[in-house]
Amino acid sequence: MSQDVQLESVTMRFGSVTAVRDVSLTVGAGEFFSFLGPSGCGKTTILRMVSGFMEPTEGAIRIGGRDMRGIGPNKRPTALIFQNLALFPLMTVAENIGFGLEVRGVPAAERQRRVRKLLDLVALPDAAQKKVTELSGGQRQRIAIARALAVEPAVLLLDEPLSALDLKLRQHMRAELRDLQKRTGVTFIYITHDQGEALTMSDRIGVMSRGVLEQVGDGRAIYDHPETAFVASFVGENNRFSGTVAESADGLAALDTPHGRLVGRNPRRLSPGDRATLFVRPERMAAGAGAENALEARVTHRDFEGAFINAFLEGGITIQVPHRGDEPPLTPGEPARIAFRAEDAVVLPDAPA
Ligand code: ATP
Repeated sequence: MSQDVQLESVTMRFGSVTAVRDVSLTVGAGEFFSFLGPSGCGKTTILRMVSGFMEPTEGAIRIGGRDMRGIGPNKRPTALIFQNLALFPLMTVAENIGFGLEVRGVPAAERQRRVRKLLDLVALPDAAQKKVTELSGGQRQRIAIARALAVEPAVLLLDEPLSALDLKLRQHMRAELRDLQKRTGVTFIYITHDQGEALTMSDRIGVMSRGVLEQVGDGRAIYDHPETAFVASFVGENNRFSGTVAESADGLAALDTPHGRLVGRNPRRLSPGDRATLFVRPERMAAGAGAENALEARVTHRDFEGAFINAFLEGGITIQVPHRGDEPPLTPGEPARIAFRAEDAVVLPDAPA
């Protein structure tokens, strides 16, 4: 049975370092939630607090409505999976999976039954008697997950569990993890610095920077509607134009930039005089005219990527156009006219230094 996890104004300080600052959030029961952010942003600290290895300096954590203060890791309805899986190398797969059950005094017959069920769940029905050392990286990963699920946690906490695997396996395991989460219905809290992982697997993502939860939303909201300059910069590629807000009305802001006046959405309600940056994705810009925003810049070079052509323009501007054979020329050395719609751009306050 899955449970929800509530963080209420959670702060964690280590001496003068504030690793997590005033984070409030509810992860729903049965949800696949990812914390995404660069190294040092406080993701692991959140996981440690939820699992009970650390108590927050301030704030409360509730799991299934129950306040977790003073409740140790073994008494919480959580299980944790790390990057280095810490499987017992000399034990068989079945012994590894059954270990937590044995510690809890579950009788042998019942243990065996549950181990078999878990091996089916992770699609390794014949692996019970194998040694861990005989398994591939992806198989070990699945055994680690089976072992964590054996104790029937309501919440599974995953700390960059795929980062030790090679790229192909990592991509394959994304789909497996997602599928496993949906089949078990267990609440997953996943931490990663890899936006691809977060975007492909999660129901919702919480983007973190410097201990602060910058934005929470599903993948589309995070990608299409970033609410802070950090989120716009960290998730996906963006062109940026810095300047000063000249006008704001009807949910739009016009920004005076070195490329002229450019207009974008204004979700943060910036006013004239505010310093800000306009963000627009390379794939939302097109060669030619016919949109609210237009600018001209010389093409420095272009890359053919098969499905796409990336053109690089002076001023650090990148545009990406689908390769259909009829795209307008973006000729190196020549000026190009670039257009994009106001609704495809967003104007956001500059992040504090
Ligand atoms: P990574 O992806 O590198 O693990 P992270 O986002 O998980 O990074 P945390 O490990 O949560 O980040 O660390 C957040 C901040 O808190 C960092 O500045 C880190 O140095 C600091 N920190 C974490 N644990 C401790 C500790 N036990 N004592 C002192 N400082 C700590």
